[in-house]
Amino acid sequence: MKDLDFPLFKTKIENSPEFDLTDAEQRMAYFELKAGSEIQKLKEYLKDGSFIAYLLGKKNSGKGTYAKMFAEIFGKDKIAHLSIGDMVRGVDKELEDPEKKEELISFLKENYRGFIPLEDIIESLESRSTTKLLPSELILALAKREISRLGGKSIFLDGFPRELDQVSYSLFFRDLVNYREDPDVMILIDIPETVIDARIKQRVICPLCNTSRSLTLLPTKKIEHENGVFHLICDSNDCEGARMVSKEGDEYGIDPIRERLAIDEGLLKKAFSLYGIPKVLLRNDVPIEKANELVNDYEITPEFVHELEGSVVKTTQKPWETVNDNGTPSYSLMPPPVVVSMIKQLVEALN
Ligand SMILES: [Zn+2]
Repeated sequence: MKDLDFPLFKTKIENSPEFDLTDAEQRMAYFELKAGSEIQKLKEYLKDGSFIAYLLGKKNSGKGTYAKMFAEIFGKDKIAHLSIGDMVRGVDKELEDPEKKEELISFLKENYRGFIPLEDIIESLESRSTTKLLPSELILALAKREISRLGGKSIFLDGFPRELDQVSYSLFFRDLVNYREDPDVMILIDIPETVIDARIKQRVICPLCNTSRSLTLLPTKKIEHENGVFHLICDSNDCEGARMVSKEGDEYGIDPIRERLAIDEGLLKKAFSLYGIPKVLLRNDVPIEKANELVNDYEITPEFVHELEGSVVKTTQKPWETVNDNGTPSYSLMPPPVVVSMIKQLVEALN
């Protein structure tokens, strides 16, 4: 982040075997090697303990990816990723079904307290323009319902706080949702905007199965070339060679979301300065000059370069060089080493 770099974290092990961190099985072996004893401790803890973690990071910082990998290690029966954005979209769907709408309204009648009449909220939900912000009091009531459905799992809460005035709510969130007396922790993610920008610009999606990939950062196995443009072919057999496509607007990268990113940065900085709640600080970038000391080569995000040789597409890879928000030449880490850092810090935070 500008003017505020999070601490660097060492995950390097001398003579480590090479891992392909995009492969689920190899990833498990990797986690075992790098954080085996901490994973054991956490598993022990999760047998009858739980926690709430507030995930704070800029849009597209990989919050969902980290939570998913964490659940991959500790089990979906123990860990839930609760995205407030997904939750609100779910509510939109409920409103289309008369029976579910009835249930929702009766729940809110009992559980919503706030400054805007419930009728107005329902009306604005039904005619929703995506830019419209829902009051924090409503988000809290809905989150409470969602959390009671999760039956005591540990929760990664993603998308709350979303605005500066919600930070204080998050300090009392545990009490507000009647959660068990289990610890809560803030997980703050620092990621260069150049990385977010490249992720958006290079992102392509399969029109059939919606799988998301990246032309230069996470390509598929098969790549086609036509009229000077390289196309990724979806890896899934079901999609029968479908070409992945980029979404309209993605070519602008972070430009359309600069305002959102600035708010997110304000949130991160405010959360960073909070007292009394444990914080886990995750950093996505590692300065190039420190990389050799801190990380193994396979933990660095590679850049894939596609070239045409005759009529065959040839792809080579090299460490992707970028700069962080303070102008330092940096590499971007693959998600697994960041998750290793998260696991180790969580063990400390939960004691
Ligand atoms: Zn597909």
